[in-house]
Amino acid sequence: MLLAPVEYARPSTVQDAVRLLSTHDGARPLAGGQTLTNVMKARAAAPDVLVDLNELHELRSISSEGGGLELGAMATLNGVIRSSEVASARPIIAEVAAQIADVQVRNRGTVGGNICSNDPTNHLPPLVTALGATMTVLGSDGERTVPADEFFVGVYMTAVGPGELLTKITVPAADGAGDGFASVPIGKDGTCIVNAAATVKDGQARIVLGCVSATPVVLSAAPDEASVREAVQGAGLDPPSDVHASSDYRRHLAEIVAVRAVEGAQG
Ligand SMILES: Cc1cc2nc3c(=O)[nH]c(=O)nc-3n(C[C@H](O)[C@H](O)[C@H](O)COP(=O)(O)OP(=O)(O)OC[C@H]3O[C@@H](n4cnc5c(N)ncnc54)[C@H](O)[C@@H]3O)c2cc1C
Repeated sequence: MLLAPVEYARPSTVQDAVRLLSTHDGARPLAGGQTLTNVMKARAAAPDVLVDLNELHELRSISSEGGGLELGAMATLNGVIRSSEVASARPIIAEVAAQIADVQVRNRGTVGGNICSNDPTNHLPPLVTALGATMTVLGSDGERTVPADEFFVGVYMTAVGPGELLTKITVPAADGAGDGFASVPIGKDGTCIVNAAATVKDGQARIVLGCVSATPVVLSAAPDEASVREAVQGAGLDPPSDVHASSDYRRHLAEIVAVRAVEGAQG
């Protein structure tokens, strides 16, 4: 289906982008367009104005600060995969980005777009939550930072409000932590049925499950199989049923991927 008519703006500064977003009620940022143009074609979203972020080159930067990372919201998935900063600071981010969809999606799709869409089957929301990332959100009233634990608020909903822009994702230094990720996708590189990210540090695992709820589910446990299974069983998960998996099967898979993610985090 063709796109419905829509106004289009391509600002060259972040300030102009925020001004456009905050002065038009129906304005929406356009990043890689890998989700947004599809939902617009399906008439599931109908913004009045698309504010294209692709001229905002400063939002593409990836830098390393004190062993941690600053990922510009417009850094592409392929940019992350190729980044030497990511490879040395938190290589799990590149490993997971490389599992997303196909090369075309990874060339166009951005880290910010993946996180802001908050599709519960996406790879990055549980990962950035497990890593303890912080999101920087800019609006006409200024900048604020939101911890990942509070950023994802519902299906397709995040703490980024109307008129605001996610500008960067700050990932702390590993500082001795190990990181892991595991998923059961629909075929190779397909959408996840269930996924889990984990960090293990000082004998404690932080485990974040995806695809089982509207927002990533955060758990903690000792990093052994029995404790991880017990934490998942005790989480009161009520995952959705669909054509790919029943609720019971997703609950079962959640235990499996949580154990694998924690094992991966311990090398
Ligand atoms: C065929 C296909 C398969 C896919 N499979 C997977 C998969 O298995 N796993 C996975 O994780 N992802 C998957 N994706 C999604 C992909 O990873 C993209 O990252 C994702 O679509 C969004 O990135 P984007 O840059 O294209 O954002 P867009 O589509 O441009 O935007 C997505 C949403 O985020 C908002 N937004 C974007 N940037 C910002 C910002 N800086 N501030 C505020 N709001 C913003 C937009 O307004 C829009 O609402 C798939 C996509 C396709 C097309």
